[in-house]
Amino acid sequence: MADFHILYLENNRFFANQVKMRLEWRGYQVDISDNEQDCLAKLRQRPYDLFLLDFYTPQPDGFRLLEQLQNRKIMPATIIISSRPDFGLATKAMNMGCIDIVLKDTVLQQFLERLNLSIFQFYENQRLKLAKQDALIDAIPIEKEPTTLPWEYYPDKDKVIWQGDADAELVALKYDDFLANISEEDLVTVKTRNNICLFSQQTVEYTFHYHANGKDLRHYRANIEAETNRDGTVKRLHGRLRKLSPTARVPADKGSKLKQAFLDNTPDAVFATDDNRRIISVNHGFSKLTGYNEQEVLQQPSDILNPEQFDKNFFQPIAAALKSRQFWQGETTIRHRNGHTIPVWQCVSILKDSRGNISQSISVLRDISQQKAFEASIQFQANYDPLTRLPNRTLFMDRLNSAIKQGKRNQKKLALMLVDLDKFKWINDNLGHHAGDLLLQETGKRLQASVRNSDTVARLGGDEFAIVVPDLDKASDAEVIARKIFDNFKRHLYIDRQQVFISGSIGITLYPDDGNTSDDLLKNADSAMYMAKHNGRNCYYYYTPALQQETEKRLQLIEDMRQAMENQEFSLHYQPIIDMATKKVACAETLLRWQRPQSGFVPLQQFIPVAEESGLIHDIGNWVIEETAGNIQRWSRLGLEPVRVSLNQSVAQYNQTDCYVEWLDILSNKKVEPQAITFEINEKLFLDERDNYAVSVEKLKQAGIQISLDGFGTGYSSLSYLKKCPVDVIKIDRSYIQGMLDDPANAILVETIVSLANKLGIKVIATGVENQRQLALLNHQCRYAQGYYFSRPLSLSEFEDFVRMKNR
Ligand code: GH3
Ligand code: MG
Repeated sequence: MADFHILYLENNRFFANQVKMRLEWRGYQVDISDNEQDCLAKLRQRPYDLFLLDFYTPQPDGFRLLEQLQNRKIMPATIIISSRPDFGLATKAMNMGCIDIVLKDTVLQQFLERLNLSIFQFYENQRLKLAKQDALIDAIPIEKEPTTLPWEYYPDKDKVIWQGDADAELVALKYDDFLANISEEDLVTVKTRNNICLFSQQTVEYTFHYHANGKDLRHYRANIEAETNRDGTVKRLHGRLRKLSPTARVPADKGSKLKQAFLDNTPDAVFATDDNRRIISVNHGFSKLTGYNEQEVLQQPSDILNPEQFDKNFFQPIAAALKSRQFWQGETTIRHRNGHTIPVWQCVSILKDSRGNISQSISVLRDISQQKAFEASIQFQANYDPLTRLPNRTLFMDRLNSAIKQGKRNQKKLALMLVDLDKFKWINDNLGHHAGDLLLQETGKRLQASVRNSDTVARLGGDEFAIVVPDLDKASDAEVIARKIFDNFKRHLYIDRQQVFISGSIGITLYPDDGNTSDDLLKNADSAMYMAKHNGRNCYYYYTPALQQETEKRLQLIEDMRQAMENQEFSLHYQPIIDMATKKVACAETLLRWQRPQSGFVPLQQFIPVAEESGLIHDIGNWVIEETAGNIQRWSRLGLEPVRVSLNQSVAQYNQTDCYVEWLDILSNKKVEPQAITFEINEKLFLDERDNYAVSVEKLKQAGIQISLDGFGTGYSSLSYLKKCPVDVIKIDRSYIQGMLDDPANAILVETIVSLANKLGIKVIATGVENQRQLALLNHQCRYAQGYYFSRPLSLSEFEDFVRMKNR
C-alpha cells in the first residue's frame, strides 16, 4: 500500500490530520489539501490513486471542482465525503464517476471505519485489475515498433469507426458487421470485454483476430476505455489498436486460461447462455453473487436467477433492445440460491451465428444492493423523522397536498390538526434531552394510536406534530380524534422511573370549509393551535376567520417590534422611588416606552405579551439592561449622586437556563457594578415548577443584584410565601395603598406586611402613592415609596434634573 497515494481535500486541518494519521497507519500515503487551488496544483503535479473530497469543503459546490478535474482530464478515482445524507448529491456524484460516498459521522472512529472500508474495496479492485493486466501483457508478444490505430464504437448509433491498417482509410461500419469479421474463438472475448467497458466504464485490454476483406487474418491488441455523457451514460468506447505480428498467437490453452483468469478477476458476475437460454459458462463472481456453483447452474435455464421477474411487460423492451442493438443494460433483481433477492445492474449482449440467429448471450451482473441501501437510507432520511420514524415536514406536505386533491375529486372534507406539546421545554430542562426524546417518541406512538392507518401523523419539528385526516364525513369527527388523543395522552407514562404527563394543544382546520390550499390550512391550524395555547393549553380549538384576523394582527405586531428595535423606537423612562427617611431619591424604576413615528405611544400590555410568546422579549429585555447600564455610566460621568436602578423583567426572560450569564456580561461590558441593579420580577416566576429559574435568581443574587417582587398582594403571594421567596425587596401593590383610606382592613394589612418584611430583612416599597393622606398613613411603617405624589415617570433628562434637585 506504500505506493498507493491519496489526496484528501478538507479545510479542517485538525480533522484532516486525524484522518491522515489513521490512514497512514494502515499503509496509505496521504497528502492533505485545504483549498481548491492547492488541490488542483497537487493533482497537476502528480497522479494520485484516489481523491477524497470533503463535499462541503471549502465551499458547498464540490461539483465545480470535479468538473474542472474532468475537463483537465486529471480526475482520479474519487470518494465523496459528505456531512449529510443527500440523495441528489449521491446520484449526481455517481453520474460524475465518483466511486463512493462516505457519510461523515460526529464519531470519528465510525467515520474512519466507513472510509477505510470504502478505500480498501477500491484498493483491492485496483490490485486485481493490475494483476490481470500484467498477466495479459506478459503473455502477448508485441512488435518492436507497434503501430497504433484508432478504434471507436458509438453504441447509440451502432457504429464502429476504425482504421485496420496504417495505410488504410478510416472506415465506419455497423458493430455487427465489425464483429462478423472477428475470428470465432475471439468473439466472446471481444463482446464480453467491450460490454464490461460499456457497463462499468473500466478500461479493458484484449487481443483479437480480424478477417480483413473476409480473408486476410490480422492480429490486434486493443486498449479500450469508455467516455461518458454528463448523465453517466456511455457516449462511446474508444482506444487504440496495436497491430501484432500474425504469428504471435497466444497458445490456445494459455489464451483460454487467460480469458478465464480475466473473467474470474472481474468483481462482477459474468455468465453466458446458449441459444436456448441455458447457462453454459460462469465466472467466480457469478458464484459469489448468486450462491450457485458452476455445476449447479450449467445447462440450467437462466430463469433460475429470476424466476418471477421476467413477466411480459418487463421482458418485452429488453427483447426489443436485444433484437435491434443486440445489447441491453438496466436495473433488475436476481434471486440468490438462498431465496433472497439482490438488486443488480445487468448488461446483456447477444451473439448471432452466420445465419443471424441468436447463438449465445453474455450477461454481466453487478451487485448494487449497497447503492440501493444507501439510496433507501437517504430516501428515508429525506422523508422521515429519524427520532419518531414518522413522516417529516416534506413528506407531510406531499401527503397533505394529495389528500386535498383527493378531497376535491371525492367531494369529501379533510381535517388538518396541529399538535404542539405543552411546556415541553420543562422536560428537557429538568429530566434531560434524552427524556425529552423518549417523550417525543411516545407522543408519536400515541398520536398514531388515535387515528386510522390511512391518516397521516407527522412530526413537523421540535414538539410539533401534524395529522391529516382525509375522507371526513362531518366536521365534528375531528373532535372525536382530538378527544381520543387527549385520552391516549392521559395514559400513564414513566421515563427513567419518573411519572411524566403528556399534554398538548391542538388546532384544527377543515378543507374545504376554511381553505383550499395546504398553505392556508397550515396557517389556519396554527392560529387555532395558538388559541388553544393562549386559552390554558391541553385543549383544542377549531379555526375561525376571526381567529385568523387576530393571528395576522399578532404577526404584524411581531414584525413591527422587530422594526422598532432596529429603528430605536423604544426608550426608557424613570420613576423615582423615595427614601422617606432622607426624602432623597433612593432608586429609580425603569419603564419601557414604545413610541411609533406614525401611530404614537403603544401601551405595554398591548405588546409585551406578544413579545413574550414570540421570544422577542429576550432581545428587548437585553436592550433594557444595556440601555440602563449605559445611563448609569452617564450619571457617573455627570457626577450625579448614585441611585439604584430597578428593571422590570418578564418571567419569559428566564426561559433560557443560563440567562443570567448574558445579563451579567452586559453589565460587566459596561463596567456597571451589579450592586447598582435590582430586577423586578413577578411572583409567577416563583410559582413556576421549573427549578432552573431558581438557579438563575440565585446566581444573580450572588453577583450582587437585588431581586424585587412586584405587585405583592395581588396574586397568590401570601405572607407565608415571603419566607420561601429569595427576594430582597417587595413592592406592595397600589390597590392596597389606594384602598387604605377607605378600608381600614387594607391599612392593617399593609402594616402587617411591612412589619413582617422588616423582621425578615426584606425592604418594602409602597407603590401608587398619590397624596399626602396616604403618605401620612404609611409614614412610620414603610421606608420607601413611589407614586405620582412624588413624581410621574420621567424622561432621562427630566429624571437627571429631579435627582439633582432632591439629592443635593
Ligand atoms: P409551549 O407550551 O408554549 O409549547 O411551550 P414548550 O415548552 O413546549 O415550548 P415550544 O413548543 O416553543 O418549544 C419546543 C421545545 O422542544 C424547544 C426545544 O428545546 C425542544 N426540542 C426541539 N426538538 C427537540 C428534540 O429533538 N428533542 C428534544 N428532547 N427536544 C427538542
Ligand atoms: Mg410546545
